[in-house]
Amino acid sequence: MISSPHRPTVIHVDLEAITYNIHQVQSSLNKKTKTFAVVKANAYGHGAVAVSRAIESQVDGFCVSNLDEALELREAGIKKSILVLGVLMPEEINLALEHDICLTIASLEWLDLAERKGIDLTGLSVHLKVDSGMGRIGFRTANDVNQALAILEDKAALVEGIFTHFATADEASKEYFDTQLSRFKTILTGLDWVPEMIHASNSATSLWHKDTVFNAVRLGLVIYGLNPSGTILELPYDLKPALSLESELVHVKVLSEGEAVGYGASYRTTEEEVIGTIPIGYADGWTRDMQGFCVLVDGESCPIVGRVSMDQITVSLPKVYPLGTKVTLIGTNKEKVISATAIAEKRGTINYEVLCLLSDRIPRDYL
Ligand SMILES: *Cc1c(COP(=O)(O)O)cnc(C)c1O
Repeated sequence: MISSPHRPTVIHVDLEAITYNIHQVQSSLNKKTKTFAVVKANAYGHGAVAVSRAIESQVDGFCVSNLDEALELREAGIKKSILVLGVLMPEEINLALEHDICLTIASLEWLDLAERKGIDLTGLSVHLKVDSGMGRIGFRTANDVNQALAILEDKAALVEGIFTHFATADEASKEYFDTQLSRFKTILTGLDWVPEMIHASNSATSLWHKDTVFNAVRLGLVIYGLNPSGTILELPYDLKPALSLESELVHVKVLSEGEAVGYGASYRTTEEEVIGTIPIGYADGWTRDMQGFCVLVDGESCPIVGRVSMDQITVSLPKVYPLGTKVTLIGTNKEKVISATAIAEKRGTINYEVLCLLSDRIPRDYL
């Protein structure tokens, strides 16, 4: 989708807040712990290239979800290590080799497929993924990992790391977390040899299970300044949300009582009412269920009335404001705050999804 910079709707990204958040996590961990910044999905909507450039000196490497995201970073001149967390089909690995991109190997079937396709793994850097209970990708037994280690050694690939991923690190109950941890440890104990880098920590694990960090962390949401548990667990230290979303009033009118607003004419004014229009809609990731939520205008909370359209929303204003008046959809406006977490609660989802859905149509502006 083409970005629309000639429209007042814009995402501001505070890169210093991201630097601050990484520093906050790093200060809480053993100094030798390596830091991988997770910048998949366009850095959770913040802009992968700008974020990666800003923090490259602060981290040991980056994680992305697929090869194209890795190539985008290499093309932008990012030099540090990049690990693709998802599974790549074997025929794509030449590009990974060419651009020095590290891959995740998650099954013996994959190694077998690569063998049958005659694919040369020489010099390929890999991390092995262990499925300790997430049930998505990864080896489930030490025996399978040992076979993979032997095959990869034989094919002259470089096994740099081994990792797992927790399903419940953001929850109050530790039970399933401990089950996964003990399975991962059992597998590590059963290995013929253990790769140098061992990592299990996403944001939630780094925040609330610090004793479980092996020797590297993969930090996603926390670097963008949000709480991975939503509002369930308290943050152990301060974080600064890096993203705000703003627009402007492009139309303001006074409707008399009984007038309709929006598709379906589902909203009717019950008295004289000031209605403002803001150029953002579900095509920007401002989904239809935002009807009934609010935006901030001049420090006032203004309800979104009528249906959310593809490109516009309508809000009820306490008075007539001039065209061009600033509207805050995520962030702070005269002491009042709307967080991505509050939006997620309204939608019955998680703050991750709120950020990732903000579409490329909204330009990103960097402070
Ligand atoms: C996305 C992802 C992360 C980062 O998760 P956060 O909760 O954002 O910190 C870490 N590891 C893996 C395997 C992931 O897919």
